[in-house]
Amino acid sequence: MAEKTTYDSNNIFAKILRGEIPSHSVYEDDAVVAFMDVMPQGPGHTLVVPKAPSRNLLDADPGTFGPLFAVVQKVAVAVKKAFGADGVTILQFNEPASGQTVYHLHVHVIPRFEGIPLKPHSGQMEKPEVLAENAGKIRTALAN
Ligand code: AMP
Repeated sequence: MAEKTTYDSNNIFAKILRGEIPSHSVYEDDAVVAFMDVMPQGPGHTLVVPKAPSRNLLDADPGTFGPLFAVVQKVAVAVKKAFGADGVTILQFNEPASGQTVYHLHVHVIPRFEGIPLKPHSGQMEKPEVLAENAGKIRTALAN
């Protein structure tokens, strides 16, 4: 059963979902969006976000996960292709103790390359032009 916690509708991803602040979007359907992480842990680091409000996995309606993970898989396949990656890391954090910093459920999809470690979580801002170029590569891979 989902845990009852508070959801702040002014969190940054809620604002992106409402179109109040910009993002480098790669995918959208009725239930899910995907956009570039602005502080990527590697090139092509993408966030997959359900539109339904929940703080994280602990309080989400279980019905959220099917559509969400269908898109996580689509995006994982697309980023692997777009960046010629050797693998893909999927990460998801719940509450501050786990490393969560934005309190709207989301899944990290990160292309991985043999021998190259992940950069720090929430580390350094990437240049907007790099994010835009990477988003374009992922949109192309998703369309083919
Ligand atoms: P988490 O620790 O799982 O809550 O991660 C939140 C992620 O959101 C981090 O990787 C941040 O780099 C990323 N992030 C924060 N603000 C934005 C934003 N405005 N657009 C895209 N990604 C963001």
